[in-house]
Amino acid sequence: MTSQTILFLILGIITFSYLLNQVLDYLNLKSRKSELPEDIKSFYNEEKYAKAQEYHKTLSNFSFLTSAFSFLGSFAVLYFGGFGFLDQLLRPMVGEGIVLSLSYFGVLFILSDILNLPFSIYSTFVIEERFGFNKTTPKTFIVDKLKGYVLTVIVGGLLIGSLLYLINNIGESFWLYFWAIAGVFILFVNMFYTSLILPLFNKLTPLEDGELKTAIEDYSQKIDFPLDNIYVIDGSKRSNKANAFFSGIGKRKKIVLYDTLINNHSIEELVAVLAHEVGHFKKKHVIYGFAISILQIGLMLFIMSQMIYSEAVSQALGGQQLAIHLNLLAFGILYSPISMISSILGNILSRKNEFEADAYARLTYKPEALQEALKKLSVDNLSNLYPHPAYVFLHYSHPPLLQRLNELGKA
Ligand SMILES: [Zn+2]
Repeated sequence: MTSQTILFLILGIITFSYLLNQVLDYLNLKSRKSELPEDIKSFYNEEKYAKAQEYHKTLSNFSFLTSAFSFLGSFAVLYFGGFGFLDQLLRPMVGEGIVLSLSYFGVLFILSDILNLPFSIYSTFVIEERFGFNKTTPKTFIVDKLKGYVLTVIVGGLLIGSLLYLINNIGESFWLYFWAIAGVFILFVNMFYTSLILPLFNKLTPLEDGELKTAIEDYSQKIDFPLDNIYVIDGSKRSNKANAFFSGIGKRKKIVLYDTLINNHSIEELVAVLAHEVGHFKKKHVIYGFAISILQIGLMLFIMSQMIYSEAVSQALGGQQLAIHLNLLAFGILYSPISMISSILGNILSRKNEFEADAYARLTYKPEALQEALKKLSVDNLSNLYPHPAYVFLHYSHPPLLQRLNELGKA
């Protein structure tokens, strides 16, 4: 392929993905209904439902603006060879090889972060604030940013650095070596997320003795599943949105409950949410999920190895000679149709898994308690009750609330 063809392909891909997302957002916005379904009515007063509608409209308008901005920006930079220009600019200053590539990504990261900053500030302090979700103070926001930078420099630097090292020194079979590194990395993050990464941003405290703990222990005995590493996280520091998750593998497994979840739910509802999470473990969703992501990464790295040394790809982005960093950027876009397909397949699987986990909670605990919890969560998070089916198909990792309630209601 000539560099011209590659550039057109890249521009075609970003245009298609932009238009597709706009159409889906539009369909989703149109599929809203103003009346409430019967079994949700007791949770929502009209005022709150109107607020939820308003929230979605605001988010859609905001996303319309940000995606137009980022689409037009990327299109122009690609079309006028801006990425190649930056490469030529840096070469005389930092030389060649890994140092050049890492500096290149560093500069791009800083530039894109500066461009994104106003949007991220607006979203947190204006939109989320107006709808009563935001708890982030400007101080937390800045400290989060700084910690995020340090983490990006260390983790991103190590990962991209080792990838670049392998590409520069090993040749086409680099992908096999990096596959192994990526696998170990994902396993590591999975195992130590709650003990190493989460504490950087939040405070985790073991769940205190009391009614909730007793109820959880009773359930745990009944299903013969250890539920002893229970932690409470101060999610309320940033947002009123609630959540719960399991983390880790084997003995390191921890259950993390948001304080916001504990504050707004009854003990039975909380146990039901845990029962759902246990369902994911019992049905081996976690292990399969891990295996699937390892396979996806292998496929991605293999395809990357087929184009990473092509000079035409660098030239498509405006480069004068082969530059690995330009090819990695181009690969990121050229691979996006494949990653979109695998994300759709992943979402299909994930929605199926959610039903299975719900079914597990229904069989081992109280279906009504999970129904109540899901309704409350959905109302508190102002979830969309009537998402468009096409939007759900592409983007939803969880089935829409009404479908889940319906399934849970089946005896
Ligand atoms: Zn789930």
